[in-house]
Amino acid sequence: MASVALYRKYRPKNFDEIICQEHVTTVLKSQIETGEISHAYLFCGSRGTGKTSSAIVFARAITCTADGGKPCGKCPSCVSGANNVDIIEIDAASNNGVNEIRELRENVKYAPLNGKYKVYIIDEVHMLTDSAFNALLKTLEEPPKHAIFILATTEPQKLPATILSRCIRFNFRLLTKGELSEHVKYVFDKEGIKYEQAAVDLIAEAGEGSVRDTLTIADMVKSFCKDFVTYEKVVKILSVVSKSEIFDLGDNIVKGNVEAVFKKLSSLTECGKSVNVLLKELLTFFKDLFLAKNVSTFKGFMSLSEELSESLKTIASGADTEKIVHAIYLMSAFEQEVRQSTQQNLLFESLIIKLCFGFKENYWGEA
Ligand SMILES: [Zn+2]
Repeated sequence: MASVALYRKYRPKNFDEIICQEHVTTVLKSQIETGEISHAYLFCGSRGTGKTSSAIVFARAITCTADGGKPCGKCPSCVSGANNVDIIEIDAASNNGVNEIRELRENVKYAPLNGKYKVYIIDEVHMLTDSAFNALLKTLEEPPKHAIFILATTEPQKLPATILSRCIRFNFRLLTKGELSEHVKYVFDKEGIKYEQAAVDLIAEAGEGSVRDTLTIADMVKSFCKDFVTYEKVVKILSVVSKSEIFDLGDNIVKGNVEAVFKKLSSLTECGKSVNVLLKELLTFFKDLFLAKNVSTFKGFMSLSEELSESLKTIASGADTEKIVHAIYLMSAFEQEVRQSTQQNLLFESLIIKLCFGFKENYWGEA
């Protein structure tokens, strides 16, 4: 049997499975319970945060013909599942939706086949052409009693005010790294896959707030690692830099050990690590170093193994707070500069030289 993508397999089937968007699901659930359904909804938010899934869950709940606010699983609507003719999904990203909206205009007046409502879900609604928007607006102005519209978009600012003003709006938020981490662990546990916490954290970080992207990455990792997902393997797959390599680099910078620093750098760039990635990781290292130096409970602020925490503490004990702060300042200022440059490697190496010498005694003129 062909394996189903994780994000499809774990797509929410009810409100309880929609994670971390309680501010939306609570309102929708209560509308279903009280029967106060609006005619038009706008679901806004970044990709992979659950807009379309929530729209489908909501549509299934209100097209169910049984009472009780939850899909009963027995009525004709519920039984038809994905083939429910009273739920019409339109992807505005394909062909700008012109034909689909025309069809919608023609068919919206016909009563639903089973229940009380006919639900139109329009995905990526900001992609509609002007004429499609106008056609949609006419329908939104005088919708038949049974018609419900759920418009989903990643870019609400591109929608005409006339459309916005007719919708009740919900904002879906990006998930935190911790929330995504928990979700990946839940999925891996269900799948019977063993994992290292640090590996899961890395996957969650790469997902950048999106459940769908995170699970797509988890899928890739799963097929590479089989039944044990280790940190080192994830580092390889995602082509990121491992903490231990960055710690090694940072340690040598702090010690002003120029030769070791440049050896490490060239080995990292030879494996294809980009300046942007190295810079980001190094900046994180110095921020963590600052915390390790100045905050006794620093371990709570970062997800590091016991071994790496100890090594960070040792490096911190040999570094001066002011110099760490200066290093952070240099790197932050550099970030802007490097983005616009065509000579990233050269610029990055000069930064590294500044950093190495910065940690030497009296370099910045301190007593
Ligand atoms: Zn039902």
